[in-house]
Amino acid sequence: MMDRGAEKQEVLTLKNVTYAYPNADAVLKEFDLSVEKGQFLGIIGPSGAGKTTIFRVLSGYLKPQKGKVLIKGKELKELSHSERARTMAMVPQGIYAVLPYTVWQIVEMGRLSRSSRISGMASDDIRRIEEALDFVKMTRYSARYFNSLSGGEKQRVLIAMSLAQDPEILLLDEPTASLDIGLKSHLMSLLKKLNREKGITVATISHDIQLASSFCDKLVMIKNGMIVSHGTVKDVLNSDTISRVYSCEAEVFEHMNKIYIETK
Ligand code: ADP
Repeated sequence: MMDRGAEKQEVLTLKNVTYAYPNADAVLKEFDLSVEKGQFLGIIGPSGAGKTTIFRVLSGYLKPQKGKVLIKGKELKELSHSERARTMAMVPQGIYAVLPYTVWQIVEMGRLSRSSRISGMASDDIRRIEEALDFVKMTRYSARYFNSLSGGEKQRVLIAMSLAQDPEILLLDEPTASLDIGLKSHLMSLLKKLNREKGITVATISHDIQLASSFCDKLVMIKNGMIVSHGTVKDVLNSDTISRVYSCEAEVFEHMNKIYIETK
């Protein structure tokens, strides 16, 4: 019998989090967020709303002055690096400026937290790396230098690196930022596939509300470090919330179960 309690398991939680950069006002003020197991969540909001700050707090890179960050109910600060890495993989924005490694080496780095070997990878690790590359259709690029790849290819390799980590949660900051519309949709479909087929919980930051509305199951809309609306795409995206948050007039249409946004 299906355990309904397990369906609702919170895997990522921010509880009453306040974060201020040094010598600045708080960006996040008593901020609460919960991501449930199996969700495909989009965190949306205008530039400067605090989305990247949320990503950095969730990843443990920034330590909040107040409040708690929990991964599967445990405080993030109490988990070791390898415990964190085995639960959550992260794809930050633009880390790929200069990485002087081959595609295989990059994906192999993702496997380090899982590998039981002190030196070299076991055959199971190698299989996982191969599977990850296959999943993002980058097998034939294995020997290529990462720096020689296009933006879309780099993004797929970083996702393969996260996959090799075999995480339960995948956290991404603007993964489609530098991609053209075809690649954006391709990448979001890939994340959706990961979510559906592998059961990985996905939380992605996006400033592209149209794209997020097409792929995410749930949205959290933020402005000035506070949640304005959260729920299903239909709950969150309407002319009132969009005009309030993005300071522009907007009309929202529904067609064939999809939401379309027109700004004026
Ligand atoms: P978003 O990702 O939604 O565009 P950010 O989280 O990057 O928003 O930024 C939220 C606020 O925090 C902005 O006002 C920004 O100027 C400020 N901020 C971001 N990073 C830093 C930093 N390293 N030092 C000081 N202020 C920062």
